Amino acid sequence: MKILQKTEGKIYSFSPEHDPIYRAKDGESLTIETFDCFTDQIKSEKQPLADLDWDKINPATGPIYVEGAEPGDALKVTILAIETDVLGVMMVGPGLGTLGEQVEDMKVKVMHVRHGRVLFNQLSLPVRKMIGVIGVAPAAGEVNCGTPGPHGGNMDNKMVAEGATLYFPVQTPGALFALGDLHAAMGDGEVSVSGVEVAGSVTVKLEVIKGMRLEQPILENGRYFTQIASAETLDEAAKIATDLLVNRIATYTNLKFEDALMLMSAVGNVEICQMVDPLMTVRAVFPKSILDQLETTLLP
Ligand code: CA
Ligand code: ZN
Repeated sequence: MKILQKTEGKIYSFSPEHDPIYRAKDGESLTIETFDCFTDQIKSEKQPLADLDWDKINPATGPIYVEGAEPGDALKVTILAIETDVLGVMMVGPGLGTLGEQVEDMKVKVMHVRHGRVLFNQLSLPVRKMIGVIGVAPAAGEVNCGTPGPHGGNMDNKMVAEGATLYFPVQTPGALFALGDLHAAMGDGEVSVSGVEVAGSVTVKLEVIKGMRLEQPILENGRYFTQIASAETLDEAAKIATDLLVNRIATYTNLKFEDALMLMSAVGNVEICQMVDPLMTVRAVFPKSILDQLETTLLP
């Protein structure tokens, strides 16, 4: 199996203009190494932050050209494994994140990540490995890796974890897939503007689903089918995610729209992924146990 090293190529934006660093076959599995979201610049809390290069934030390893992927298809990405390095970094800064106006100086915390635990001061926190940045190129122009959108990108969705499968709308030939920004732990909202940022590697399987048109990414795992959406406000993102999911349920079952909406209201959840990036990201979450009763997977 191919191992793509992080030094082989990184991007700070998703764009159809970037040259692929690897061509993957439809159905290929590969391991992708990643820098942390600071491009591994922070090694110690004593390091002067003035020395940091703030242009080197949120690198993603790639892009990867997936053979056979064309606009109008979906790229199916199965997260087979996530490995994290032993050094985790968090930060807060004035004006950053949800309470940035209460933060006087930029502060960095460096933590050990070992044996399934994050050592935070004297506290031992559970490791919950996830991928912050993952997606495909937009049709034109470029979207920096700090921004989420219909192409995926910086969704900071804690459900992007081992065992999850994502579907992205392919917008350019080859899809131009990339990922980075691993977190050893992060809560919904990512309120401080960082998770426990960590370098590492991800093993994925990449497949092309011909003719599966999507407006925004979908994620499913063993228990849930979820519709992701990013927009300027949480309200707007929540509405788009709910709209796409309820209408998908109505399309794939014999339920009328009104019944699908009531069913979502009875057993579905609308959850915040993150509320600190240039666009906000929300997921509408529906239990697969109920889909089983409806005899649908909500997929073509
Ligand atoms: Ca992020
Ligand atoms: Zn991050």
